[in-house]
Formats: sequence, C-alpha cells, structure tokens
Amino acid sequence: MRIAVGGIHIECSTYNPVLNEEKDFRILRGAELTASSYFAFLKDYEGEFLPTVHARAIAGGPVARHTYEAFKAEFLDGLKALLPLDGLYLAMHGAMYVEGMEDAEGDWISAARAVVGDDCMLSASYDLHGNVSQRIIDALDMYSTYRTAPHIDVEETMRRAVKMLTKSLATGVRPILLWAPIPVVLPGERTSTVDEPAKSLYDMLPQIDALDGVWDASLMVGYVWADEPRATAAAIMTGTDRAVLENQAKRLAQAYWDARADFVFGSEIGSVEECVARAVASSTAPVILAESGDNPTGGGVGDRADMLAELIAKDAKGVIFAGIADKAATDACYAAGIGATLTLSVGASLDTKGSQPVEGSFTVNFLLETADPSDKQAVVSIGGIELVLSAKRRPYHNITDFTRLGLDPHQARIVVVKSGYLSPELAPIANPNLMALSPGVVDQFVERLPRLRKQTLTYPFDKDFDFTPTTALSARSAGR
Ligand SMILES: [Zn+2]
Repeated sequence: MRIAVGGIHIECSTYNPVLNEEKDFRILRGAELTASSYFAFLKDYEGEFLPTVHARAIAGGPVARHTYEAFKAEFLDGLKALLPLDGLYLAMHGAMYVEGMEDAEGDWISAARAVVGDDCMLSASYDLHGNVSQRIIDALDMYSTYRTAPHIDVEETMRRAVKMLTKSLATGVRPILLWAPIPVVLPGERTSTVDEPAKSLYDMLPQIDALDGVWDASLMVGYVWADEPRATAAAIMTGTDRAVLENQAKRLAQAYWDARADFVFGSEIGSVEECVARAVASSTAPVILAESGDNPTGGGVGDRADMLAELIAKDAKGVIFAGIADKAATDACYAAGIGATLTLSVGASLDTKGSQPVEGSFTVNFLLETADPSDKQAVVSIGGIELVLSAKRRPYHNITDFTRLGLDPHQARIVVVKSGYLSPELAPIANPNLMALSPGVVDQFVERLPRLRKQTLTYPFDKDFDFTPTTALSARSAGR
C-alpha cells in the first residue's frame, strides 16, 4: 500500500492584516517528515508512508499568495513523483485563508485529488475550528476532527484518519462520506469541550462511532474569525451505512442547533478596564487575566499594548505580562544589556494601524540566550510589572515558557497572557481566571465584527430564523 502524507496547517483570521510567509512555517520535507515526532505514530499502521511536504504555522493572518503557491507546487510535485498511489493522508487545520482566495483548503485538496486520480483513497484530519465546504467533502473519502478544545487529542485524531485509510485499503471497502452544515459559528471560547453544552455534544461522538455502519463521527465548531461564505459548524460522517450516517448527522446537527443559545464563556468576562480593576482588587492570587482579542493562537496579532497601558495606569503590582511581540523593542533590550534602563515604544509593531504603542522607561531584567534570532525574548520591568518582549508572535501557555525566562507564574499576583480559554497548564493555577473581551482581530464579541462575505443566515449574527438539518453526500460517495 503506497500512501502519501502531507498537508498545510494554519488558522487565519481574515481580520488580521499581518501576512504569513514561508519563514513563519515549520516545514517538514521528505524523510524529515516521516522521522518527525508529529508523524511518528504512522509506524503503527500497515503501509508504506511516503512523505511530501507538511507546513505548519501558529494561527495568524492570511498566507501570502506566493508562499501558498510555492507550498502547493512543492506538494503537488511531490505527489506526482510518487504516483501511482493507493492512498493519501492529509494533516490539515482547516481555517487557512490565502490572500485573495476563499476556501483555500478546497483549492489544496481538490488539486491533490486531480493529481492522485479517482482510484486513490483520500483521508483528512482536521482541527474542529476549521471550516468545511462541499468542494472539500467532494474530494475526500474519509474525515476526522479533534474532539477536544483545548486540543489534547491531536495524535488520536490523526490516528483515526490514518486507521480508516489503511482499513479501506486493506479491505477494499470504499466508505461513504457525508455532512450536515449547521448555520452557527461561535468562538472557541464559547464552545470549549471542557464546558457545557459542548462537553455533552462531543460525548455523543464515541457512541455514534460504535454504531454499525459508522467509521467516524465528526463535529466541527468552525472558525468564526473567517469572514468567508464557508464559515459554519457541521456534522461530518464517514462509514458504510448511508441511512445510519444521514440520521446521525442530522441528529448531531439538530442537537448543536438546539444548544446554540447555551454556549457561553467558561470564565468570568469583562472589558479590559473591568478585568484590570477586578484583578488589582483580587484577594486571591494568581489572577490569570487572558487578553482574548489579541490571542496569537486564535489568529490574533499578539502585538497590542492596550492591556499594558491599563495596568500601568492603575499602578498594578506583582504582574507578569507574557508577552508582547515586538522585534524592535526586543532587539533594543539585547543591545542595551541586562540592568540597562531605556526608553522603549512597546506594541503596535506588526499591525501598526490596529492599536497604540506604550512609551515608557523600562529596565532590562533578563535576556534569553538563544542561537535562533526569532526566539529572542527579553524580560523588562516598568513599575510593578514584569513584561516579556518577544521577537516573534508566540504564546505563553506552558509553565516552562515562563520558567525558562526566570519567571514563576505561581508567585505573581496577576499573570497576563494573550489567550482565550486557558491552556491545560495555566487553567489549574488560575485563582481566579478572568477573560477580557479586549479589542483585536480575534474579538470574542463576534457580533460586533463586520460580516461582509456571509451569504446565508448564521447564528449569532442572525438570530431569528429556522433550521432543519439536511445532509449532502461527497460527490465520490454518490452511487455507493
Ligand atoms: Zn483549534
């Protein structure tokens, strides 16, 4: 069994003006791909896994057109060199937006289908925050998506997609793929599978998997910061019994629709000003204050200083703020050295029109020693605030992200992170967790965002309409 492996994995806010270029991706090519820890699980499955290219970046703005076209050409050339193929496994995110191109995964996957031909079986794994279109479904045979958010089942999901593919190739069974779009698109922070109602909805999936004729049940939340016609939640089913798959897809879609008004934020929320006031007044610590509108792992820019300005204005003490992406300010700290005090302009360095920088006098406390210039990080202080400056957009979700900079989040009064729902490592230490509905290109208050490309009624942008679930088959499943 000759199975090609590849894909492109990025989540793009169409509201984010900062383009992603090749330098922003982690690229696995050839033997590097199959030897990587990301794809190490493939060794557990029957088949000859043949690498092409896999490009992955943290969430952000659109992919530059020339970058996308170069990745796509490399991927398709890789596939052509491997023909004939029995199978193709694609490890995707699903919320890519390419400069001037909507439904970018539709473009990538249908181009792959055209190269590998109709006899090749194609399986994809997705992030549940991806968006799906009929064009995508039409090119695929099998599909599986994450069932947890925060995502702790990435490998499990990839395994489900590969297991279905190898099962199909070993048995000769060509499964049916169908989907039921759900006209709802909500932020991940209102649909975390840790909280209800998402928890109970996702608990339905293993029960559906167990039914005869079902190979995989997938439920997509979709990606709300994509102002594209395809943005939608969806139930997607792979299996062999069309009637069961259709019934279960409709049942799942109806259950999600019925719960639409129950999706609420899992933590206490407020404006930047309200959250800073509550954090400063808190009698317990550490308060973990998530600045959600600028969350780089949700597609935010990660360079805003609004929250920093408010903390300085309120003379907040015992604060660790991790962090603000600002290459020029970071480089200035490295040039000045530890112990130096310098005047810096912090913030608004990437999206220069989106927000205002903070100007002030900062003292350099720590500089990370690193051979990789893009990994440079400086800890500076201003008043009672220790601020992390980073050369590139990056999250601070793990305890070691802090400790490697000499910071201990347990000892802080207030920890500010650019995040939505907290990561599995930060959530347990939050005492309490506050989420600021702060401005930015991944604004959690989605109802206030412009929806210029929406073509159908969609909750929560539209509220007064009826919905009855219907299913649509993959073009490849018709007649099966
Ligand atoms: Zn996700």
